[in-house]
Amino acid sequence: MTKLADIPVKEELYDSLSEWSVHTGEGENVTARRMKGKFRTLKNGGMSVWLIYFIFPYFRWDNHQAVLLDLPNQQFHFFSTTLFPQDIWVLSLTLLFFAILLAAVTGVAGRVFCGYFCFQTVWTDAFTFIEGKLEGNSPSRKHKFNTAPWSSNKVIRKLIKHVLWLSIAVLTGISFSAWFMDAFELWDRIVSFTAPKPAWIAIATFTFFTYWFAGFMREQVCFWLCPYARLQGVMYDQDTMLPAYDASRGEPRTKLSNQPIEEKGACIDCNVCVAVCPTGIDIRKGQQEGCITCGLCIDACDSIMDKVDQPRGLIRYASYKELYKNVEPVQFLKRPRVIVYSLIMLLSVAGIAYGFGNLPPTEFKVIHERQPLFVKMSNGEIQNKYILKLLNKTKNTLEIQYSILGLEHATVSGIEKMITVEPGKIIPINVLVRVDVSASNPPAIQEFIFIATDINHSSIRTEYTAIFISK
Ligand code: SF4
Ligand code: SF4
Repeated sequence: MTKLADIPVKEELYDSLSEWSVHTGEGENVTARRMKGKFRTLKNGGMSVWLIYFIFPYFRWDNHQAVLLDLPNQQFHFFSTTLFPQDIWVLSLTLLFFAILLAAVTGVAGRVFCGYFCFQTVWTDAFTFIEGKLEGNSPSRKHKFNTAPWSSNKVIRKLIKHVLWLSIAVLTGISFSAWFMDAFELWDRIVSFTAPKPAWIAIATFTFFTYWFAGFMREQVCFWLCPYARLQGVMYDQDTMLPAYDASRGEPRTKLSNQPIEEKGACIDCNVCVAVCPTGIDIRKGQQEGCITCGLCIDACDSIMDKVDQPRGLIRYASYKELYKNVEPVQFLKRPRVIVYSLIMLLSVAGIAYGFGNLPPTEFKVIHERQPLFVKMSNGEIQNKYILKLLNKTKNTLEIQYSILGLEHATVSGIEKMITVEPGKIIPINVLVRVDVSASNPPAIQEFIFIATDINHSSIRTEYTAIFISK
């Protein structure tokens, strides 16, 4: 077998710029063969996570949608918790967690997101599955079907394909909208053509792009449109495990022959690894931008190795160091970047847990009137004006009683009556505070406290430190 040192690695195997082996479309889509295997099962498992996207909007919790991103009312409902724009930092931490998770997973095992979860590859896989069932699941069968003269059978098959594609695309659009308004109400209003305009726009946009991207563009989106595909390189290092062809074992590739095994490589040049690749690349030419690390070529090659009675793993998940420097891969938990990523993720999870556990029941703000800052009354008293705004973040109606603390010789008007604040609402209150300055000769600026208390639940009590300006 060829020794590793004999293989011109730099020139041929890892220099994808010198030989661009990414499928470029050229007017045709890739028709990948489907084969059973460990990574196909994993991919199916990853794809099934997307069922949450379709099903979850129909789950109810306390008589409302369990998860609802209510943009018009600026409220995000997650089971019994409601987040308001003021709590957006919790959502930001959640996004940070997923962004770092993506970077960590990519650093460890390449484009796992692309290969197993990405909506583009998942929807494309579903669309090509339908196409394969109706028009043939190999390039030759599909070509035969497409070049055959038109017949009723061909028309019906094409029609069914596009109806199914469009149905999935429309359902994708409706499911997206269902995260933003009550899912059952949305269906009612779609059926009666009374859905709000933003819902129609979202459904139409998602339908169009799903149908076009998954049905026609397919792998071309990964090659030419997706920014994440371009970012991969900076997240890899020489310890990243990627689907790779073991050239030292496979070369020189030779068609099945009676040649002694010592004189030929393990690759029998059957091209099955290329035929199953959803992006149409030849992994034997080295790691390439078009590889979404789905592992389907590993399944394909393993099945061929089984047939020719050779050990599996000619194509396998391996690091650059393992393949080309003969160095054992560093355990992923000992790699500095994984440690740093994990620490950031731990901090974000702690922040998210703290955020959800300590969301205040109200948000209380006091705005001091600026024009004018104070008014001198005819009786010598100084008056400051304030607007009190209390946001009720609970799911119950609050009966709020306002009071002030820490301001001597003060009289307050505007807060005599209890204020009813419905869930998710803010009731602004104009308040006038007057201080008899002749009685105490106060400083120009004094701090004092506005207090808001729910008369039914004394635990719901919040304070705001305001200032009183008298000079
Ligand atoms: S080369 Fe292999 S791992 Fe990469 S996209 Fe093609 S089938 Fe998937
Ligand atoms: S499937 Fe394996 S044996 Fe067949 S061409 Fe690919 S690497 Fe060679």
